[in-house]
Amino acid sequence: MTNQVQPIFILPENTQRTSGKNAQRTNIMAAKMVAETVRTTLGPKGMDKMLVDSLGDVVVTNDGATILKEMNIEHPSAKMIVEIAKTQEDEVGDGTTTAVVIAGELLKKAEDLLDQEIHPTVLAKGYRIAAEKANSVLNEMAVKVTDKDTKILKNIALTAMTGKGAESSKELLGDLTVEAVRTVTEDNNGELIIDSDNIKIEKKVGASVEDSELVAGIILDKEKVHAGMPRMVKNAKIALIDSAIEVKSTESDAKINISDPEKMQAFIDMEENMLKDMVEKIAKTGATVVFCQKGIDDMAQHYLAKKGIYACRRVKKSDMEKLSRATGGKIITNLDDLTPNDLGNAGIVEEKKVGDEEMTYVKECKNPKAVTILIRGGTEHVVDEVKRAMEDAIGDVASALKRGKVVAGAGSPEIELAKKLRDYANSLSGREQLAVQAFADAIEIIPRTLAENAGLDPIDILTEMKAAHDKGKQWAGIDVFSGKIIDAWKEGIVEPLMIKTQAVSSAAEVAVMILRIDDVIASSSSSSGESSNMPSGMSGGMGGMPPM
Ligand code: ADP
Ligand code: MG
Repeated sequence: MTNQVQPIFILPENTQRTSGKNAQRTNIMAAKMVAETVRTTLGPKGMDKMLVDSLGDVVVTNDGATILKEMNIEHPSAKMIVEIAKTQEDEVGDGTTTAVVIAGELLKKAEDLLDQEIHPTVLAKGYRIAAEKANSVLNEMAVKVTDKDTKILKNIALTAMTGKGAESSKELLGDLTVEAVRTVTEDNNGELIIDSDNIKIEKKVGASVEDSELVAGIILDKEKVHAGMPRMVKNAKIALIDSAIEVKSTESDAKINISDPEKMQAFIDMEENMLKDMVEKIAKTGATVVFCQKGIDDMAQHYLAKKGIYACRRVKKSDMEKLSRATGGKIITNLDDLTPNDLGNAGIVEEKKVGDEEMTYVKECKNPKAVTILIRGGTEHVVDEVKRAMEDAIGDVASALKRGKVVAGAGSPEIELAKKLRDYANSLSGREQLAVQAFADAIEIIPRTLAENAGLDPIDILTEMKAAHDKGKQWAGIDVFSGKIIDAWKEGIVEPLMIKTQAVSSAAEVAVMILRIDDVIASSSSSSGESSNMPSGMSGGMGGMPPM
């Protein structure tokens, strides 16, 4: 009747919506908070976080990806930041904190420019061209590396482990890392293929980190199934079987009526004979070791032991695959198909006591394509943190080899990159220039944080570093221990190029993505089920939606 405009509701009632500047600011704030959380862990002098989950389990770590994973972050744009940590972890295996911290700083610098009324689209474009330029600058700075450069590779491993729980034994762990990665590297017409899944990391609490070892083969957290089996088999011929060595019918609940004892005996004999046959089939191929992914019947265990065959049961599928790659054996499902050709080889298979548990070592494999690093250490927390540090180290050495290029660390590449980006910005005009400059400033967050975390004055350090870079010293970085400016390359602080390129590009990507959002529409989960076709019963007479 009246001319009054009725409000229109296009969204369900419980939907939360923030738009425009508000949305932008909230998103940037959330992302910055994530970055701020992990920032204090960056670098050798970074602090650790203690995370307690809902069950009371405690994790003490310095690893960005782990921290973010355990934090169970809920805010949608904060989650996008967590995603880059995951991407970084998957693509490189290290540099997660770096990526997150850069993303946070890119957004912080963006905020300043938004305050100066620079449109987010212009900013986004500027960031994108800066990221591209950054990639080519880093590529030009980088130094070539091959699998012959043992010293450099070891330095990469050492750099990855500096400041982590692995610190005390890093010489040993560095050697193990390089050796392990080299062993599993495959050369495919000049292109190196390295799958870090082929390096199994087994951990066992006890002894000290110094007792960690690399085995040219696989270590299984399993004992042999029967006491009568040999403790050690030399020149082992290994059968890998992924079906049960059992007689199936006994697993069902079928009732058999047996009237006289003779028939009973005949039935038992039959079953026994079937198991004996199965063992016979295995033995005939010349196998002296059996790894079975499923169960092994007691009777079959007995016959295997009588034949002097070493056997483990219920071996994990992933371990079966690794065994296959380490020993060259083929995983067989049907015993009838097993031939001598399918057997794998290992110099030694033995049961060994580690701590207070028996483990099975499959070692001295010739030319293994999968290896194991056994990590020892005083407590659960120590072995866990050493394992994470080793994973970073393995990822770094592998990606250095794959990409064939490395850079020095300690903040030196970031200062050099920022410098070159500023030069580049000067060649641009207008507002994009401001965005590229902001990008350059943001990259400096890495050396600044390294200095801050080491308790050094970031302004002094950065000024000194920049002066050195202006004199052409592209690897001038911070010695976080002495507070002096050093040649990071000479000091052996080396990282794969990919850590830097991946961190910069995924940080830029996520920053751009967050900047371009001007509207957050969140449907509340509790009502999402009913909201679709029924205007909720008590909408209080709102006229937005016509009744159906
Ligand atoms: P991320 O999760 O990003 O790998 P880290 O805590 O491993 O974070 O820290 C990596 C940073 O520490 C890199 O910028 C690297 O150059 C720097 N760094 C590593 N070793 C040293 C060192 N000995 N001196 C100074 N900086 C170092
Ligand atoms: Mg690291």
